[in-house]
Amino acid sequence: MASGAGFDISEAGTKKNAAVSLVTDRAEVSAIANAGPDALSIGVEEFTAALAGSTARIKTVLGDQNLIAGIGNAYSDEILHTAQLSPFAPANRVDAPALLETIREVLGQAREALFDLPPAKVKAAKKRTFCVHGRAGQTCPVCGSTIAEVSYADKSLQYCPGCQTGGKKLSDRRMDRLLK
Ligand SMILES: [Zn+2]
Repeated sequence: MASGAGFDISEAGTKKNAAVSLVTDRAEVSAIANAGPDALSIGVEEFTAALAGSTARIKTVLGDQNLIAGIGNAYSDEILHTAQLSPFAPANRVDAPALLETIREVLGQAREALFDLPPAKVKAAKKRTFCVHGRAGQTCPVCGSTIAEVSYADKSLQYCPGCQTGGKKLSDRRMDRLLK
């Protein structure tokens, strides 16, 4: 960059999905040409309509970049924990305006906590703010329950049974398969 400014990009997974493009119109980048409105700027009506039109699990819908852009695996875990919602709740049964408030709150706090940090410190700072993400087996800071986890083929989600599922454990299909 002409200004001498730069940035670091890191990717925790093994899928190598990360990419950087510098364009004037995002339609030029096929991977995000169809991305939905940004999570911090989507209006309540648009968000409500997006949820009302889906019977998919709310965890899946929050991470669907074509519906709402910008929420990844970590922050969807944190948002659902703060909202006290089961990750498996059907999207069309969720109180959309209340969830949108929580999205703004959690992402807004994250932005504040990470603002101006040197890139090398962002990852650790992010982790410190997480209540449930990446914390399976640890104690929920809100209710004291043990954080639980559901694993998929290539990722996992963490949640607090005490805060989010009325104490019930969600079914872990990978574990169920292994136990059969
Ligand atoms: Zn809890």
